[in-house]
Amino acid sequence: MERIEEWLGQGGHVLASTQRAARRIAAAYHAARQKEGRTAWPTPMIFAWDEWVRDRWLEQNRAGLMLLNPLQEQMLWTRVIRNRPAIEGLQHLDRLAQSAQSAYSLLARYSPETLEAKGRLSWTGDAAIFSGWLADLDERCRREGLVSACRLPLLLTDALWQNPTPESGTSGIRPPLLLAGFDRLLSSQKALLDAWGRWQEDFASEEAAGPATNAQFFVVQDEAQEVEACTRWLRAKLRSNHGVRLMVVTTNLQSRRGELERAMLDAAQASEEDDVDLDFEFSLGQPLAAVGAVRSALLMMRWLVEPLSESEVDWLLTSGYCAANAEEEIALAETMLAMRGRGWERPQWSFEAFCIPGLPSLTPPAAWVTRLSAARRSLELSPGQQSPLEWVRFAEQMLESVGWPGFRPQSSVVFQALKRWRQVLEECGSLGYDGSQMEWSDFVGTVTRAVSDTIFSLESSDAPVQITEPLPAAGLVAEGIWFLGASAEAWPGRGQPNPLLPVALQRDSSMPHSSHKSDWELANAVTGRLFRSTNEVIFSYAQQSGGVETRPSRLLEQRIGKPHPLPTEWTETPQDSNRRPLTEVFADTSRIPFPTDLVAGGSETLTRQSLCPFQAFATARLNAQDWEPAETGLNAKQRGQLLHSVLHQVWGGKAHGGISTLVELQKIAQQRDIRNFVQRVVNAVMREQFTPGRRGSMPARFPARLLELEAERLTQLVSEWLEYELQRQPFHVIDTERKAEVNIGGLRLRLRLDRVDRVGDGLQLVIDYKSSDLGPSAWRGPRPDDVQLPLYATFAVQGRLEGLLIAQVRRNEMKFCGRVQNAATSLLPGLSGNNGLVKDPLNETQMDEWRRLIEQLALDFLAGNAQVAPKDPARTCERCCLHAVCRINENQPLAALLGDSDGDSTREDENGLGERDA
Ligand code: SF4
Repeated sequence: MERIEEWLGQGGHVLASTQRAARRIAAAYHAARQKEGRTAWPTPMIFAWDEWVRDRWLEQNRAGLMLLNPLQEQMLWTRVIRNRPAIEGLQHLDRLAQSAQSAYSLLARYSPETLEAKGRLSWTGDAAIFSGWLADLDERCRREGLVSACRLPLLLTDALWQNPTPESGTSGIRPPLLLAGFDRLLSSQKALLDAWGRWQEDFASEEAAGPATNAQFFVVQDEAQEVEACTRWLRAKLRSNHGVRLMVVTTNLQSRRGELERAMLDAAQASEEDDVDLDFEFSLGQPLAAVGAVRSALLMMRWLVEPLSESEVDWLLTSGYCAANAEEEIALAETMLAMRGRGWERPQWSFEAFCIPGLPSLTPPAAWVTRLSAARRSLELSPGQQSPLEWVRFAEQMLESVGWPGFRPQSSVVFQALKRWRQVLEECGSLGYDGSQMEWSDFVGTVTRAVSDTIFSLESSDAPVQITEPLPAAGLVAEGIWFLGASAEAWPGRGQPNPLLPVALQRDSSMPHSSHKSDWELANAVTGRLFRSTNEVIFSYAQQSGGVETRPSRLLEQRIGKPHPLPTEWTETPQDSNRRPLTEVFADTSRIPFPTDLVAGGSETLTRQSLCPFQAFATARLNAQDWEPAETGLNAKQRGQLLHSVLHQVWGGKAHGGISTLVELQKIAQQRDIRNFVQRVVNAVMREQFTPGRRGSMPARFPARLLELEAERLTQLVSEWLEYELQRQPFHVIDTERKAEVNIGGLRLRLRLDRVDRVGDGLQLVIDYKSSDLGPSAWRGPRPDDVQLPLYATFAVQGRLEGLLIAQVRRNEMKFCGRVQNAATSLLPGLSGNNGLVKDPLNETQMDEWRRLIEQLALDFLAGNAQVAPKDPARTCERCCLHAVCRINENQPLAALLGDSDGDSTREDENGLGERDA
């Protein structure tokens, strides 16, 4: 910094490699002046390279050429490519245009001589096609007086040689330039600087700088330990020097961002005790389209003309960005909830379908509908084709009229994001510079692509800890640097060469990722720059990353030596172990007893209590619900309901147009009429279930052909099942969909039993239909995966019980499984001794065990035992929708300890044929 200050003091200018580096150097300069006690000083002449080149070129632009912004250039590439033969396998025009734009920029920087057509004569294949596009683009730019930003350094170089006399208004000498934070200077940059006059780089050459004596290289066990050690080091540094500036550099920051942010927040909280401000900021932004306020604007623009997916509508309505007040926001969310509650979900929602669902209770708030309808009308009244600028004005007015960006005060993040959004909109508006017009949907597509390609980063708050990637770290200075992820796989980084340029050319010009050598050289230069830009630099790598063994960076081994294990002060320190933790962890054993005795949810509540007490608490007491995403056809649950209804009618006796005994089934079979019989029942059920307006009916949105196919599927499935039941011992179905209310230790449950058969001399078989492979092993152990049938057997059946059976109704896999006292005489003759029904008969001991276990589950539930204790964290939580409520992921190690899986559960997706209790 001293050198820079001296340079500025002598009237020189400083060129930084990036905007961020320029801001950082300027901030350091201002801080130094303040420290000197000064209240005013001249603005230091510090510029980012690109900005400086553009401004100098504008001063020289006597021909009045128009500088294309990136969007305009991409549009020009798109038009050029559209008029030429396509490249096989690269059909997506936008991506192709981006690739061409990037190839053009590479040529301008690394191989300017090939910008002349004669320099590309030998190119073949895809490169030759690109060469043709480039010729067209150049011709068009010449004709229309346009210029791409990538050509500015070359044009400026020529202009400077042609006009060696400095521009009027200057002192007659061009100020000398000092370059800060450049990893390497390209020959095109050197040529420009030479044309300018006097210039220097701000560091000594690699050789002059000597070997790195301030660098260390460590190996750690895994990434968690690596981050932990890094935060300890940061805290120790800040404790010993409050004003110190530090930097964390990591390869692959995008994927490590969440992990780092959490660790830094924890460290910041812990640092408060030491009166240390561990403030940090990321230099890497995120796509502007991912910012909530911007995403909501895009969705509303799209919704005017095209349907949105259900998850998009759900997000939009609950985001608050299109609600006029809190009441409206809640009403919108409730509308969505009510629609789902009625089974009205659908994969996509057009605006009309959403606003006119047919029932007053399901209609969104009137004021909201009025605002959005007015916006749609004004779009309908607009000319179909307009200039992008006119669409920009329309979009701004439309968004304002629908209440975007909502009623909440804007945070600094939203404020900055909206500022960037307006800039991107303006850039999109500039696409009409040539008088072209477009339709609204094309305009929305253009804006969507533009905001997706725009990386939004918050303005720097000049935090003491900067977190960045190796290349963007250029020009940033710090008193200490920790470089994470220095493995052989990640450093040097790897990438792909540009597919539109000859590989040999890319290699010869040392373009990025053209060869391992060029990546190595760049990484080596960056490493050297890190050595020079700080007093202390620590590199680390994790031996295990994503479950894979990694090796240390060879480049670092060459420059620093073999990695060493971490010193103990960055693992566990005595002060740390004695420190009173800020977060006090305690087991919350408080229980709020269930205030009533009747619970909705039937036996499912006790199954949940067994799987994870918190699951039962959240669903039965807090009414937490899962949301089944809509499918184009019937979902698994709906198909399961239909199958139950068909089987209910088939075995519902004469009252339901069905049968109830094996004898009746045999009679139908003798007449070879099973399929016709089932078909009649299926048709009746389909008619009933899809009657619009009937209570409990299914949504009427399904096409007739889809319902026909479903009817055929059901007919086939149930016919197969009846063929299977023909093999049974004599039986009489005494009940289907039997309702029962049971009281278990004071907890009342309403149940509905799929079917009860009488066999032998008055024994009963309880049967439940499933289309999954759930079997009786799910009833085993102290924490069964399923208690439904054991509960029916022990509490809901009056009289003598012969057994409990799961009827697995699955194509080509029809079977009964379960526990029966004597399966061969009461169920199926000829069962082998190896069959589970024979091997593991039902007995009184088992019944007593289930009774005790179920009573205990009921008592636990009534007592308010809501422990977050999944039976098997990996499998139980995977099938549960409550992660956000129980926050299990934040307590994963605890959950793993609590898990006492017996590894025996077989509960699978029940495909809609699971619990159906009242
Ligand atoms: S996600 Fe896991 S811990 Fe959380 S409620 Fe569900 S089963 Fe329990």
